[in-house]
Amino acid sequence: MEEIKNELLQSAVPPLLAWYRIHKRDLPWRHSRTPYTALVAELMLQQTRVEAVKERYVRFLRSFPSPEALAAASEEEVLKLWEGLGYYSRARNLHKAAKIIARDGFPSDFRGVRALPGVGDYTAGAVCSIALGLPEPAVDGNVLRILSRLYADGSNIDEAATKARYAQLLREVYPEETADFCEALMELGAIVCVPNGAPACASCPWSAVCRAHLAGTEELFPVRAQKRARRVVQAEVLVLRCGGRYALEKRPPKGLLAGLWQFPFFEGSAPDLGKAVRQKRAKHIFTHVEWQMTGKLVDVCAFLQPYTWVTARELRELYALPSAFRPFLEWVE
Ligand code: SF4
Repeated sequence: MEEIKNELLQSAVPPLLAWYRIHKRDLPWRHSRTPYTALVAELMLQQTRVEAVKERYVRFLRSFPSPEALAAASEEEVLKLWEGLGYYSRARNLHKAAKIIARDGFPSDFRGVRALPGVGDYTAGAVCSIALGLPEPAVDGNVLRILSRLYADGSNIDEAATKARYAQLLREVYPEETADFCEALMELGAIVCVPNGAPACASCPWSAVCRAHLAGTEELFPVRAQKRARRVVQAEVLVLRCGGRYALEKRPPKGLLAGLWQFPFFEGSAPDLGKAVRQKRAKHIFTHVEWQMTGKLVDVCAFLQPYTWVTARELRELYALPSAFRPFLEWVE
C-alpha cells in the first residue's frame, strides 16, 4: 500500500473549515462550549442519532446545568432523564464523572479527560478539541470513512493500526481552530460523505482533492472487516396488570441494559400466568443481539412477587424504561 502523504490532508483543511462555517447545522450543544457540556453532548451522541439527542440534551442540562448539580442527583433521576437514549452505562459513567469533576475540577489535558469514567479516545479527543482548545483528534467511524475516501488507500478501518495512523495524520495538521476542525470532520461525515447511500460529492468541500471521488471509486471505501452476525434471542414480555398497577422488575446487574427496569422478561417462553388480553410482536436491535419479542398483556388478581407494582403515572414519571419495551407501553394507561 502506498505510504500516506500528509500534504493531501493539509490541503483539505482550509476548504473544510470554510465549508463548515457556512453549512454547519444549528445544534444545541454548539451554542455553548464548556468542557462539561461538551462531555454531556459527546457521551449522549455515542451511537445515537443527533435527532434523538437534541431535545434530551437540552432537558438534561436544564436539570443538571453543572457537574455539581449532576453529582448531587440520584441515579434514578439521571437514568430517567437519559430515557430513550439507550446504552445506559453512559449515563452511569457520566454521573460518576460529574462527581469526580465536582470534587477535583475539570481535567486540563487529554490524559485527565481520558481517565474519566466512560471516556474513550474518541470522546476525550472531542472534548479536548471542542472545549479545551487542544489539538487532539477524535476519530470515530465517520472520520475513518471520510479519510479512507479522501486517501482511497484501502486501509481496513476496523483495524486499530488504521485508526492510529489517521489520528496521527490529523494531529499533524490540526489548525488553531481546534473546535471547528473537530466538528467540521464530524459534520462532513454526517451530512455529506454519509455512511449509507451515495456520498454527496457534488456539494463536498473535498471534491477537488478526494482521491476516491476523482477516481470515481467512492463506493469502494471504506474497506471493512466482515461483520459478525447478530445473535437472535426469542423472548416473551409480560405486561402484568392488577388493580391499576403494572409489574416491573430490574434487569441483572451485569450485561445488556444492566440494572434497568423492565416488564417481566423471559428468554424463550414466559410462565403461564393467565390468558393474554392483548398480544403483539416487536423487535429491538442492539449492536450484537436482536430481541424478537412477543408481548402479552395479562390481568392477574394479586400483586405477584418479586415484582415492583407501579401505577401508569409512576411508570411514566419515575421509572426509566429502555426503548426496547416502548412498543408495550401503549397498554399502560
Ligand atoms: S468527495 Fe465524495 S467521497 Fe470524497 S470526501 Fe467528499 S463526499 Fe466523500
